[in-house]
Amino acid sequence: MTVPGNALRNLFRGIQRLSKDARKPPAHVPRIIPRAEHAISRKSISSAALRVLYRLHEAGFAAFLVGGAVRDLLLGGHPKDFDIATDATPEQVKHLFRNCRLIGRRFRLAHVVFGPEIIEVATFRGHGADGDREIVDGRITRDNIWGSLEEDALRRDFRVNALYYNIADFSVRDDVGGMQDLQDRVLRLIGDPEQRYREDPVRMLRAVRLAAKLDFRIDDAAAAPFAALGPLLGDAPSARLFDESLKLFLAGHGLQSFRLLDHYGLLEHLYPVTARALARDHDGGLRALIEQALANTDARVAEDKSVTPAFLFAVLLWGEARAQAEARIAAGDEPTLAWQHAAARVVAEQSDRVAIPRRFGTVMEEIWALQPRFAQRARKRVFRLMSHPRFRAAYDFLLLRAAESSELAELGAWWTAAQTQPPEQLAAALDSGNLPVDAEAAPARKRRRRSRRKKPADAAG
Ligand code: ATP
Ligand code: MG
Repeated sequence: MTVPGNALRNLFRGIQRLSKDARKPPAHVPRIIPRAEHAISRKSISSAALRVLYRLHEAGFAAFLVGGAVRDLLLGGHPKDFDIATDATPEQVKHLFRNCRLIGRRFRLAHVVFGPEIIEVATFRGHGADGDREIVDGRITRDNIWGSLEEDALRRDFRVNALYYNIADFSVRDDVGGMQDLQDRVLRLIGDPEQRYREDPVRMLRAVRLAAKLDFRIDDAAAAPFAALGPLLGDAPSARLFDESLKLFLAGHGLQSFRLLDHYGLLEHLYPVTARALARDHDGGLRALIEQALANTDARVAEDKSVTPAFLFAVLLWGEARAQAEARIAAGDEPTLAWQHAAARVVAEQSDRVAIPRRFGTVMEEIWALQPRFAQRARKRVFRLMSHPRFRAAYDFLLLRAAESSELAELGAWWTAAQTQPPEQLAAALDSGNLPVDAEAAPARKRRRRSRRKKPADAAG
């Protein structure tokens, strides 16, 4: 029997195609986890997000809950925001909702507003990596190329962040292996780590932040480029690094974020001023102060109390500011002036990396400037200091400094005692020089370092 040549060729090409498909990475085969096999219940999705999902679905569009919300729900947590992805364009989304506004130029998004809650609706995006943007009439249009769900998943950073909850049948779609990583409690990047960090260096900080928040491990391949690529953080916009700093340090997992940043050598690229002071901190006093402050902040967040970036910066920049002020004073500068100059220089240097908004910088400098005034314990001065709007924050800072010396620990205990007295009694005690101070409230240096204070760390004053 003879077989025509072109039939053979076609057969051969068919086999070639098949074997090519077999070599495709498994990441491209989506896994659908039906409702019965995962733990996401509609009860734990905000009603606003559900309304948006249903409306999109009823209008014939694909509608998925995405990102951190799906990840956190699968882990049994309570997401703080619910993001949605769809194949509807922003304009089509706007047509469906009266309470909708379109935002962003580079990343055009729809915000559907329900009172205080904003549901972000993003159209699936196609390949438009940072490296090949297109600029038309001065506007970056390249990042607004719409794509398929699969492309949208591949643009995300970590595999655990690329899970999609489908409102059509309540299933979870996993294109990249995110379910496996949730199970293994590990953060793996989608794609080549080095390339993904070059596209966006802030992803290195997101790795640390999510590892701290979720108590996950960072996969070796995802952590390996940190040492070489950490310096790229210097090119990231300082306003974005400020936002990211707040998420790292003021979202309830600040202590762990700090330890991981330090462990991976990223602290020096985000807070060079802090890293430099820590390098000189041979007795561990500064580290103890920072860690205690972050532990207090985490405890406050857990109790739903307010926290302020001003106190955070006062803590992070303290070591270097104090060193510079002391050097100036030793050289003969007047102390108040020496502190002002040192503070200004430290803030200027750090702002180059992380933008410190003026309003926080001012409060931070006030917290520092009040420190020497705690040593003055004449009646008039005590009352004047107590009525200062930053007294509370400055006092909390003084308590943190108890690790610096036993004099400061005693001073802290004295001010703690002073605040427990009614004003007339305090006035009498100050006049007679007889303020009863609880010795237990002035713990020795070692105890202070280990113990977790219940005192608020960062009252805004
Ligand atoms: P959080 O719980 O802190 O909100 P998150 O993962 O939801 O964590 P968001 O900043 O809200 O973080 O981002 C939402 C989703 O957008 C992420 O889950 C991820 O899929 C995607 N994403 C955010 N930032 C990036 C980035 N820099 N690169 C790629 N994808 C990103
Ligand atoms: Mg989120």
